[in-house]
Amino acid sequence: MVDAPGRRGLVIAIDGPAGAGKSTLASRLARKLNYLNIETGAMYRALALKAIENDVDVDDQNALVDLALGSKITLEPLIDGNRVKLDNADVSTRIREKDVTEAASRVSVHPKVREWMVNKQRELGSKGGVVMEGRDIGTAVFPNADVKIFLDAAPEVRGNRRFYQNPVAEPSEAVLAELRARDERDRTRSVSPLVAANDAVVIDSTHMTLDEVIQRAEQIVGTKSREESGARASKESGDRVIG
Ligand code: C5P
Repeated sequence: MVDAPGRRGLVIAIDGPAGAGKSTLASRLARKLNYLNIETGAMYRALALKAIENDVDVDDQNALVDLALGSKITLEPLIDGNRVKLDNADVSTRIREKDVTEAASRVSVHPKVREWMVNKQRELGSKGGVVMEGRDIGTAVFPNADVKIFLDAAPEVRGNRRFYQNPVAEPSEAVLAELRARDERDRTRSVSPLVAANDAVVIDSTHMTLDEVIQRAEQIVGTKSREESGARASKESGDRVIG
């Protein structure tokens, strides 16, 4: 993706299951690089909220697409994550609640809903200079992303919401069951199931601290940036010789 016109920087894809720490990693990386951070899960959550508010069945694909077409979902970058607006109302907190979390997981299985989301996400990231985080960024949204990281961790660790502050605390059975159900839905859906891209670097953060995860990701991005600069420099000198 070196030569796309108007490029502002790399496209960095961060995928992985729920609760692995993707959002924290994505926002820290984006801040460090001065890139845009895009939490794609928030878009599925916003549509799910709209379905709840409008009594639309989350299993009704066509009704969900109609709803999406009539919706304005915007993401504004903040220091930590995104401010999410649905039809101009700030829903950043509401979309993290349990009913929306469950509905978002169901909304995201529908191929036509995903198509709508993926098109929007491509628009958002097309100029580069983005850290985009989700489940299918490196496989479907930006299969040619410059950097692909798949961030994983054992379910017991992911189930603990304060995992980075207190990695030894045990998640409750209910939390674990809900997480496993969402994972299962993500991994087994017919379109863009959750899977590491062949060329993704997998980071298993089960036994890592947040700082260690960030350091590892920065290493991966640093290596890629140097490769890109090298490729650009040799292309430019090649252009001069030919010209
Ligand atoms: O990442 P987050 O938990 O906020 O995502 C909410 C839901 O949206 C997930 O459970 C997942 O099913 C779905 N999702 C998706 N593809 C993405 C991002 C999120 O299917 N790129």
